[in-house]
Amino acid sequence: MLDSPQYKPALDNLKSQLETYPTLIDAFHQVEPVILELFGAQRMSLFQRRRQHQDLVARFKTGKETKQIKVPISPLSIAGYVALAQRPINISDPYDPSELSEIHPRLRFADQFDKSSSFKTQNILCIPVMNADVLMGVMQIINKTDGDFSQSDLELGGEVARLLGDKFRYELGGTKHQFDYLVHRGLVNQKTIDELSENNATTKQIIQRLMSEQRISEQDIGNAISIHYQVPYISYLPDKYHLFQHDSKLNLSYLKRNHVAIVADASDAPIILMAEPNNAGLLMEIESVIGIHSYDIAVSLPTQILQYLGESVGGSGPGDLDEILDEIGSAGEDDDDQVDELSDDAPAVVRLVSRILHDAKRLNASDIHIDPEKGAPTRVRMRVDGVVRDINQVPASHHNAVIARIKIMASLNIAEKRVPQDGKLTFRMSGQPVEVRVATIPTVAGEGVVMRILATGGAMPIGKMNLSERNMDMLETMIKKPHGILLVVGPTGSGKTTTLHAILGYLNTPDKKIWTAEDPVEITQPGLQQVQVSPKIDFTFAKALRAFLRADPDIILIGEMRDKETAHAGIEASLTGHLVLSTLHTNSAPETITRLLDLGLDPVNFSDACVGILAQRLIRTICANCKEPYVASEKEISFIKRNYGEAYLSDFTLDEPLTLHRGKGCEECGDTGYKGRTGVHELLTMTPDLRSLVYKETSVSEMKAQCMLDGMRTLTQDAILKALKGDTDISQVQIIGGHG
Ligand SMILES: [Zn+2]
Repeated sequence: MLDSPQYKPALDNLKSQLETYPTLIDAFHQVEPVILELFGAQRMSLFQRRRQHQDLVARFKTGKETKQIKVPISPLSIAGYVALAQRPINISDPYDPSELSEIHPRLRFADQFDKSSSFKTQNILCIPVMNADVLMGVMQIINKTDGDFSQSDLELGGEVARLLGDKFRYELGGTKHQFDYLVHRGLVNQKTIDELSENNATTKQIIQRLMSEQRISEQDIGNAISIHYQVPYISYLPDKYHLFQHDSKLNLSYLKRNHVAIVADASDAPIILMAEPNNAGLLMEIESVIGIHSYDIAVSLPTQILQYLGESVGGSGPGDLDEILDEIGSAGEDDDDQVDELSDDAPAVVRLVSRILHDAKRLNASDIHIDPEKGAPTRVRMRVDGVVRDINQVPASHHNAVIARIKIMASLNIAEKRVPQDGKLTFRMSGQPVEVRVATIPTVAGEGVVMRILATGGAMPIGKMNLSERNMDMLETMIKKPHGILLVVGPTGSGKTTTLHAILGYLNTPDKKIWTAEDPVEITQPGLQQVQVSPKIDFTFAKALRAFLRADPDIILIGEMRDKETAHAGIEASLTGHLVLSTLHTNSAPETITRLLDLGLDPVNFSDACVGILAQRLIRTICANCKEPYVASEKEISFIKRNYGEAYLSDFTLDEPLTLHRGKGCEECGDTGYKGRTGVHELLTMTPDLRSLVYKETSVSEMKAQCMLDGMRTLTQDAILKALKGDTDISQVQIIGGHG
C-alpha cells in the first residue's frame, strides 16, 4: 500500500524536505502541509523528547517567535500516553471519556487549545516517533476532514514517523545501538562489540565483558547507554539515592529479573531506574502497580540496579563471591567428603580463589589470611589499612581445594602439607599484573595460607607523603646531597619502602645511576636497577652492596641494615661519594644512632656520613565521606597540650573552642570512620651540635634534647599536627603515643 503511487511522491518529497533543512523546526513549515495533505487533516503537532526530562516538547515558530508546549510522558495526556506506551492510538472523539478510559483509566484530553481558540478537535491520530527501538518523540495528526482516521492512516502514520525518527535521532544526537558511542569515541571497535554480542549474549554479559576484557569504565558505558536511550544515566550512588518506599508491591525477584529499581533522591522524588528504559510494556506494568504518576526515568547498568536492590556485586571479575559460595554450599558440608582439585566443583573453586584475590585488591588489602578452623568453615580475613577484617567463610568441605588451588598458582608442592612453603603468584586485574607472596603454614586444624599483596605500579610522588613543611624542606635538602647516608626507620608495616621509593622517584633522573637491593622488590620504577637479594643462596645485602660499588653507582638503596657487616659497608659507600638510602627497625630517630653505635660502628665515621634519619609510622585517616567536625572536649585539649609539650605550643594557635574531626562511619568505610592511611614523621638532621654528642656517644635522651633544639618534632607531635589539620582523629594519635 505504501509503495502505491498515491503516497510515494509525497513520502519522497517529505524525505527530501527533511534532508534539506538542518533542524526539524526549520523544516516544519515545509513538512507540515505535505503531511496534512497526505492524511487529509487540518492540524498537526510534533513533540520531541527531552533527554534530561521525562517529557516531550513541541516547538512552533510563529513569525520570529518560537513557542513551546511541554507534555509529561505519562497517561495524563494523549501525546504523553503514546510516548509512555510506545504504541499508536486512533481516537475518534477526544471529548468522549469512555473512549479514553478504555485506552487507559487515567487518560485525559487537554482541551486548553480548543478553549483558547475557535478550533474544535474532532479526532486524533497519535503515533510514537521511534528510532532503533528508542522513543524520540510523538506525532499528532488532528481532524481528518473526511470521516475518522482509518487503519491505512495508522500504517501511513508509521511510515511518516519512521522518516521523522531518523531526523530526530540526528538532532538529539542519539545512537543506533547501545554501544555506538564507545565505538565513536574509539574506546572499542565495532568488530569487538559484534563478537561480544554473539550467541545471544545478554546486555549484562556484554557490559561485564566490556569492563573486564576491554577495560572500559562504568562511566563510559553509562554515557553510551544514556545517549542511546535518551535518558539520564545514574550510577550506583547509595548516599544520593535510596530505594523508594512505595515499591513494596513489586516483588524483589520481579525487579531483579527485569533489572528495574525504583529509587528516590533526597527530596524523595521517585526515579525508575531501568537497564533498558525503552521497554514500554515493563514501564506501563510498573506504573500501574505502584500507582505513582510523576517520576523520572533513568538508565543504569544491570549490576548497578542489582546493587540498589541490595545485591552485593563484586564489580568486574570472576563473579560474585556470595554467588560462588552459594554454588559451592549446595554441594554439601560433609567434612569427610573433601572436594579435590579435579572434581566438578573445581571451576567454582578456581573462581572463588580468583574472586578472593580480586576483592583483596579492590579493598586495597595488604594481606589475605585463609585460616582453617577445626570442624567449622574456613575464615577468609583481609588486612585493610593495617587492621584485619573478616571478609567471608568457605565451607570446610572446600578448604583443601582452595588451598590446593592457591598452591598450584604459586607453584608450590600440593602433596606436601606438613611443612611451611613460600612462593609467589601473579594474577591480572584490569589488565595489570598483581604480585602476591604466598606462605603456607600447617596448623592442627589444617593448612593455612597467608598471602601478601605486593604494591604494584610506580612510586608515590614525594609531595603525596604528607610531610610537614619543615620536614619536606629538610628532606629535599638532604637528598640533594651528592653523598651521605639517609636512614628511614620504623617497625614492619610503617611504610618505609613506600617512602624510600618516593625519594628514589624524586631522584630518578637519566643522569643518575641508581641501584637497589631489596627483599622483596615490591615497587618497581623504570630507570632503576633493582636487585632481589636472597639470603637462602647467600646473596646478602652486604654482597649486593659490594657488587654495586663495582658498577659505577650514584645512588644506592640497601633494603635493610640487618647486621654490622651491611651497616659498615653502607657507611663506607656513603663516605666514598655515594648517596646511600637504607632502613632499620628502630622506634625513633635518636634511638637509631645508639643502635648503630652499639653495633660497633665508628661514631666519627657514622656522624660524618649521616645526613638524616627519618622515623615514621602509618596512622589511619578519617573517611572523607563521613568526616564531621566537632568541638574538642577539655580532656582532648589537655591531651594535646600535654603530648605536644607546653614548650612547643607556639608551633600552632590553639583556638578555643577547638574544632577537631572524626568519622561517623558509613558504608564506604565499613562503619569504621577511617579510610586510607597517612605517614607521621620524625626527621632528625645531623647538625654540628648533634655530631659532637655522637662523637661523645652520649645517651639517647641527651641526643633527643639536642634534636628538639635543632627543630625536630616527634612522631606524636607530628600526629597531633595531623589531627589538628583534620587528617586523623585523636585516638590515632594515642596509638602513636603508645608506641613511644
Ligand atoms: Zn565513612
